Amino acid sequence: MTERVVIVGGGIAGVSTAASLRAQGFGGEVILVDAGEFPYDRPPLSKDFLTGTKDIKQIALQPAQWYDDQHVRLINRTTVTALRPRDGAVELTGGQLIPADRVVLATGGGAARPPIPGLADPRVHVLRTADDADRLRLSLTPGARVLVVGAGLIGAEVASTAVRLGCEVVLVDPVGVPLAAALGPELAAWLHALHDRHRVTTVRATVESFTNRPEGIEAVVDGVAGVHDAVVLGVGMVPSTELAEAAGLEVDRGILVDERQVTSNPAVLAVGDPARLRGVPRTEHWEAAQQDGARAAATILGTPAPVPTAPWFWTDRHGRHIEAVGHMEAAAHTVIRGSFDDPTFSVFGLRDGLVVAGASVDDPSAVRAARRLIDRRIPVVADRLADPAVNLRGLLRG
Ligand SMILES: Cc1cc2nc3c(=O)[nH]c(=O)nc-3n(C[C@H](O)[C@H](O)[C@H](O)COP(=O)(O)OP(=O)(O)OC[C@H]3O[C@@H](n4cnc5c(N)ncnc54)[C@H](O)[C@@H]3O)c2cc1C
Repeated sequence: MTERVVIVGGGIAGVSTAASLRAQGFGGEVILVDAGEFPYDRPPLSKDFLTGTKDIKQIALQPAQWYDDQHVRLINRTTVTALRPRDGAVELTGGQLIPADRVVLATGGGAARPPIPGLADPRVHVLRTADDADRLRLSLTPGARVLVVGAGLIGAEVASTAVRLGCEVVLVDPVGVPLAAALGPELAAWLHALHDRHRVTTVRATVESFTNRPEGIEAVVDGVAGVHDAVVLGVGMVPSTELAEAAGLEVDRGILVDERQVTSNPAVLAVGDPARLRGVPRTEHWEAAQQDGARAAATILGTPAPVPTAPWFWTDRHGRHIEAVGHMEAAAHTVIRGSFDDPTFSVFGLRDGLVVAGASVDDPSAVRAARRLIDRRIPVVADRLADPAVNLRGLLRG
């Protein structure tokens, strides 16, 4: 019987595990260990928190009182240094052991740092924590020359926020149309072009080196040197798998789990960004991490796991809100609903008469409908999907 669950990591996956355990009636002890000051949310770090519109308290995942109310013991500013499955415990900094019947690894990850010479310069930033965002914000002053490396989700959001704060932004990426696999080529191209319409200079190239100069940090991009006041790397994240590896768990581009979040050791579960379902690529999205937590709680309680839904994420840039669901890379063809000049529009990915993906600009309801069409495998006629006059909810009736 599980009497004590120790959750390692207080991101959305860890907090969701704790909340789901209580919501599903777990009466045992729940201990949440986190290295930070208190559990906070990460998506605002490149958005409202970076602009300074929201402060750290406003991005807390739960108010302080919640932990008392839910009888979740939060051990903050503390790192779990080792798993001791044989002792049924985890070890904290300083050597203290905490007994645990089940351990949930919710350790997230760190920002990737590619092997570019000169990367150690203090003007080169990454963005994964609130401290990173606080440091970066100091550099995003009006007129500052900012080089953003990587035009994926986080790089694009940082570029958008920086230009909004009055910086002169150059966004460099070797890929011509970033995010094409996730959003489909048409929408991805439109989104990337949005940067130029908002005074962000996009460059298709690779950064070769950084050099500290009195006038700023020099970046050599495809052989051409340019000087900047700050550089931001948005080139992906590295899952934190060290604890799992040291404990002998199976790790392969993530901590391998089954569909119930159980690792190769039945006493240890893994959730969120570092967990990877066997045979499937790892996801790095907020909702997926939250759902992992609910599934881990069900596993611990021995109750049925929540039914999996098509994966979903959102991103915001240049005042536009984008949502996407499903697997656009699996689509045989795409259908555009509305026009890219309209205030809102969507793209659907289809295969064999079924919707496999949907993405929208400023139209979350279209993505909600796409999600239902995907999850319920409702056949659709492409022309009707493309016609903005046809109510998407009507299509849900099949
Ligand atoms: C800047 C930014 C913007 C984003 N924007 C979006 C977005 O718009 N939409 C979207 O869908 N997703 C977005 N994401 C992704 C989303 O935030 C992540 O998928 C999500 O935060 C993953 O949650 P997690 O709990 O797995 O990991 P994390 O949030 O990384 O949490 C892990 C926690 O574990 C702690 N920890 C690690 N190791 C230990 C240890 N040994 N002992 C104790 N504590 C430990 C860490 O300190 C951390 O608090 C964004 C991410 C970032 C960084």
